[in-house]
Amino acid sequence: MSNKVNVDGALLFEQPFARVPYEAYRKVFRTSQRYIERELGAVQITSGELAKQAKANYDPSSALNSIDSMIGRVEGLKRKLSDLNETSAAATQNVMRARFNHIAELESFQSRDDPSFSRWADKRIDRWLVDWALRNGRESTARKLAEEKHIEELVDIELFSDIRRIESALRQHSCTEALAWCSENKAALRKTKNTLEFDLRLQEYIELVRAQKKVEAIAYSKKYLVAWQDSHFKQIHRAMALLAFPPPSAFGPYKRLYDLDSWESLVHAFRLAVYNLNALPTEPLLHLALYGGLASLKLPMCYDAAHAKNADCPVCDAHGLGILAKEVPWSHHVNSTIVCALSGKIMDEDNPPMMFPNGYVYSRAALENIKGKDGKVTCQRTDMTCDFSALRKVFIS
Ligand SMILES: [Zn+2]
Repeated sequence: MSNKVNVDGALLFEQPFARVPYEAYRKVFRTSQRYIERELGAVQITSGELAKQAKANYDPSSALNSIDSMIGRVEGLKRKLSDLNETSAAATQNVMRARFNHIAELESFQSRDDPSFSRWADKRIDRWLVDWALRNGRESTARKLAEEKHIEELVDIELFSDIRRIESALRQHSCTEALAWCSENKAALRKTKNTLEFDLRLQEYIELVRAQKKVEAIAYSKKYLVAWQDSHFKQIHRAMALLAFPPPSAFGPYKRLYDLDSWESLVHAFRLAVYNLNALPTEPLLHLALYGGLASLKLPMCYDAAHAKNADCPVCDAHGLGILAKEVPWSHHVNSTIVCALSGKIMDEDNPPMMFPNGYVYSRAALENIKGKDGKVTCQRTDMTCDFSALRKVFIS
């Protein structure tokens, strides 16, 4: 086996690693764009009015005031932009730089025996552990590990603490935070045809109907739901009919609309949308990396209760990695080697496999070893005893 570092293989896992700070930076960019549009738009309007005044009744003192206000706006804009640049933008750029440097190191390793490669791989495992902890709500563990290993810039603590904040708001039946997130990422969500925003709006509408605030509910639907009618006509239609069915008299689909479990579905949909946007897989990276190894080891024997577990096989560990390995396909061996369960020796033409009438197979050499004086052999796994002559030779093609 080649000892070269598989750079392409390693990079396969690193897409979200580069994508998360990129998305964060895009947010900074959009904020600055908003500032610029707002302030310069106002300056443009004032200067347009000033130009009109210059042609008609020209008043120097009011013109001076307008110019002062324009200068004030532009100075304010400059201050805001430089604040943004010094705080969020600089921090995000540092994260990007640190991450790209970390990935670039991959190219410099001569082989996998290179001690600096194993240090790099250790760091990667630490990153994956932090990712796992963050996804499973163990934020303080994640922070501690990141701090201890000095990998704060290489993990997504900020992103996940944002996720946690918004999810806990949803669990307390508030859509405000999630809707703010949707508006920050409007363009990206539209591009992927994500309808989280509609689901959130629908939920807010349902809550108004639940509280029997019918006038507000109708106004809300006109403002926020109607815009979605091209893609969600049926749902909007049903939502409107909900007005006729207050919670106690609701049935069938209307009853389902009132179901409080839909808040949990919103939490789920929100997390999926965040993962999608940042190219994060829905499973922890640690699991994905382990799947690769487990798939190459997984055999039906590992899950067969009748078989003794192999202490060296991680898939055989029913309470540990065996659970994770259920998710991966069976290993595929082009050239299998069959090993005798009794002696551990390879079975081939010189030491052929022999089958008991019940189907269990051992090597001939091992069976001859355990054959009794009466010519009988006993199957170690089922205690079945039979004449050696009753065993049948198995041919492997
Ligand atoms: Zn196994």
